[in-house]
Amino acid sequence: MKTDFLIVGQGLAGSLLAWNLIEAGQRVLVVDRDEPDTSSKVAAGLVTPLTGARFNLPPGLEERLDFARSFYWRHEELSGLRFFHHRRIVRIFRGEEEAQVWAKRLATEGERYARFHAPLEIDTTRILAPWGGFEMREGGWLDVPGFLEYTRQALLERASYAIGRVDSHEVEVLPSGVAWKNVTASAVVFCEGWRGGQNRFFDWIPVRPTPGDILDLTMPDLDDETRILNKGGWIIPQGGGRFRAGSTYRPVGAAAEITGAGRAEVLAKVAGITPMVPEVTGHRCAIRPTIRRSQVFMGRHPAQDRVAFFNGLGSKGVLNGPWHAARLADHLLRETPLPPETDVRHHFH
Ligand SMILES: Cc1cc2nc3c(=O)[nH]c(=O)nc-3n(C[C@H](O)[C@H](O)[C@H](O)COP(=O)(O)OP(=O)(O)OC[C@H]3O[C@@H](n4cnc5c(N)ncnc54)[C@H](O)[C@@H]3O)c2cc1C
Repeated sequence: MKTDFLIVGQGLAGSLLAWNLIEAGQRVLVVDRDEPDTSSKVAAGLVTPLTGARFNLPPGLEERLDFARSFYWRHEELSGLRFFHHRRIVRIFRGEEEAQVWAKRLATEGERYARFHAPLEIDTTRILAPWGGFEMREGGWLDVPGFLEYTRQALLERASYAIGRVDSHEVEVLPSGVAWKNVTASAVVFCEGWRGGQNRFFDWIPVRPTPGDILDLTMPDLDDETRILNKGGWIIPQGGGRFRAGSTYRPVGAAAEITGAGRAEVLAKVAGITPMVPEVTGHRCAIRPTIRRSQVFMGRHPAQDRVAFFNGLGSKGVLNGPWHAARLADHLLRETPLPPETDVRHHFH
């Protein structure tokens, strides 16, 4: 079989890249191991514009945010499906210090932040906010498994999807492209998530596997809440008194096992947000692909033009992924330079 791009992995990274290449008229073959508990399949899919204790608004965030939302909305229109749930986020301060940082932000950078906040309206018998908070606008959550399944079906319709494991040792680099089993392609792009650093071409990139837990909960007394509740940990309403809650950051390299400790850690976060007592109906754990925090790294191998990498989506893949996938596709097709902070050729060696 002949194709233009062999994409290894159909997580969020591989899916986003595949769409960009297909929309540019390229043929792709996406090969995925079809594992049940990958980062993308377990992820909460949150898009949180202002993160961390300092509510940073880093340069470029607004462009990436607008790009991501219009990408998902465009695919909703194309498919008639719904993936992106635009929701306000109740950002509850974790202490007096956060309240002061936020007040200072508004006093000194109020205009930049205006788009992102609204006054807090809560029932303090149901949501615990002793230091106050605000409502964050322009965020929401992506149904990542729904988006992946829609993408998989679209790839299947184009005969562009296969279940399998691509061992990088079996990928041969030829003068005119690459070969793997009976597939020849002009290039291969590895989008392998946390396994990205085990690849023979990219084992010099420090992909740090960071496991995390998510719980499914029911809290019937909170069933009319539609906003995402965030106080470091978060609770996402799913309708009908069902919620998802998370998350943990286990040490790099720890096993992605379901443990009582993981469950207790998430429940402690929930208890800091609401006095309602949840019933746990599900518990999943998966490994985030982190390189340097949530900095995406991508691009061609320094010595092998036909071999490329797209990884490091970290805990902000839903927000950052679409913009970076579009930059990578442009680079692969038109040699448009990558943003230097993302280009693997400029880092790690
Ligand atoms: C608990 C948790 C909560 C999260 N919450 C959020 C959140 O709220 N917001 C957010 O933006 N992000 C969140 N994330 C992170 C998000 O999941 C990632 O940013 C993103 O989904 C990573 O996508 P990926 O495609 O790089 O990796 P993956 O999802 O790991 O996909 C890699 C794919 O490649 C396949 N694969 C690997 N090697 C091979 C091979 N050699 N051959 C064939 N197939 C291969 C794997 O099976 C997998 O399907 C969370 C993650 C976790 C674990």
